Amino acid sequence: MSIVENYARGQDLPVLDITISQLLDQAAGRFPDREALAVLHQRRRLTWSELRQAVHKAAGALRGSNLVPGDRVGVWATNCTEWILLQYACAFAGVVLVNINPAYRSHELSFVLEKSRIKVLFLHERDARADYLAILDSARGHRQIELSEVIRLEDWHNFERRAIPFSPPDVSAADVANIQYTSGTTGLPKGVMLTHRNLVNNGRFIALNLGATERDRLLVPVPMFHCFGCVIGTMASGVSGAAMVIPSAQFDALTTLRAIHEERPTAIYGVPTMFISWLNHPEFGRYDMSSLRTGIMAGAPCPIEVMRRVVNDMHCHELTIAYGQTESSPVVTMSHADDSVETRCTTVGRAMPATEVKIVDRDGAAVPIGETGELLTRGYLVMAGYDGDPGATAKAIDAEGWLHTGDLAALRPDGNFKITGRAKDTIIRGGENIYPREIEEYLLQHPKVAEVYVVGLPDEKLGEIVAAWIRVRAGQGLTADDIRCFCDGNIAYYKIPQHVRFVTEFPMTANGKIQKYRMREIEIHELGLEQAARVQTA
Ligand code: AMP
Repeated sequence: MSIVENYARGQDLPVLDITISQLLDQAAGRFPDREALAVLHQRRRLTWSELRQAVHKAAGALRGSNLVPGDRVGVWATNCTEWILLQYACAFAGVVLVNINPAYRSHELSFVLEKSRIKVLFLHERDARADYLAILDSARGHRQIELSEVIRLEDWHNFERRAIPFSPPDVSAADVANIQYTSGTTGLPKGVMLTHRNLVNNGRFIALNLGATERDRLLVPVPMFHCFGCVIGTMASGVSGAAMVIPSAQFDALTTLRAIHEERPTAIYGVPTMFISWLNHPEFGRYDMSSLRTGIMAGAPCPIEVMRRVVNDMHCHELTIAYGQTESSPVVTMSHADDSVETRCTTVGRAMPATEVKIVDRDGAAVPIGETGELLTRGYLVMAGYDGDPGATAKAIDAEGWLHTGDLAALRPDGNFKITGRAKDTIIRGGENIYPREIEEYLLQHPKVAEVYVVGLPDEKLGEIVAAWIRVRAGQGLTADDIRCFCDGNIAYYKIPQHVRFVTEFPMTANGKIQKYRMREIEIHELGLEQAARVQTA
């Protein structure tokens, strides 16, 4: 690793030109009889050779469904075996997999289906949370959607019967394999296009940093639609041969605790909120955690006390912190197992191999070491671009290939980075990134809303929650419940304001700019959130 001024470069390791299908072939060749995947809620276990066989069948079925290389297939589902099969099978068939957050509702879903020109959509018919077919019907009411087919995951066996023999297409590591949607700073979500090279190499370096081998078992309670599941999970497992254990369809604290006890994982993944929910669970003490040696915590800043308890009480002595974003495949920096707890608590580690990182001020000039600026990264990990949005791509990736993350950070002289805030106006609720602007634009569609601003408020469990201040049109009446009803079923649950305040004016600067920090201060005071605010900034 080298550090010059405000610039750091990770270990100089080669970037491999391997596709996701080659990755699976290699794992199946090296560890045919070792467990590759255990999906506990479906009671399914597959060895690497069984996984490869099931993937070949699914790839044949994709071809039998008239999908040709370059076509887009959407998967709008919670965690399940079929999700992983589709992830690898799309790669084999040269088809682009588009991840869709199962929390998306009609408004977001219709946008993603249209924007990414999805030909075939895989979904669960319904679960405890939602009736997905009904939401899809309502999405069709918003926009003209040209889906050629909807395939229910419940019908997987029938789908497999379509399998036809085919010779694998010529897929290059530089081809786009996957589109992952992230919240957009303006309006609607943005589709991040990632190549085989992006994904395989990020997985490789994560596995290397974790010291993962085929003897490891990764417990993955994070969602597959997000890079935490489908890259830090699936790709790191594929490159190392470590088994991936999925405890449940959606996150559930108790089910994960039981899985630690019964499955004897060596590593566990989660956003800080998940770790807090395990540590605070009344049955925490009943489960044996002694198999754990490591894990990855990422997605949001972690309170120091939580980190200490994960290391001591959950047995994760080698727990690492990862920092990154979807646009960077995702991991940019990571701490090391032998870093002190202090370093792991207060920084997000050092630049990953083959990764450049620098910190610049608002004008793009280098800031001195130790000072805060925007974190930029460059290298194999930078996305191919936003799907169908060259303007947004050009704003995110500059002419020299640097990805502007929008995160504020400082580089310490020892090469570790500290994340100090966000240049962009973002709320992180339980690890979910939310752009206030997206919610504001949605709420402005309500006929009685004249003006609205959204901020994040500190919350001890979720890190932040969503609050909206609304000015109602003259002569109109509106309640917080009306607002929630307007959101329910149309936007993802985690974006729905938990707290709504009706106001007649907003705190403004002298030149008329909204002062969101003042709104936050007022709420913290009025709602008595001082304690949560202190935890957040600790
Ligand atoms: P996403 O694209 O959904 O993965 O969200 C990425 C964003 O989450 C980053 O731009 C950061 O703002 C935030 N983030 C990710 N990892 C960390 C971390 N370890 N500490 C603080 N913030 C993080």
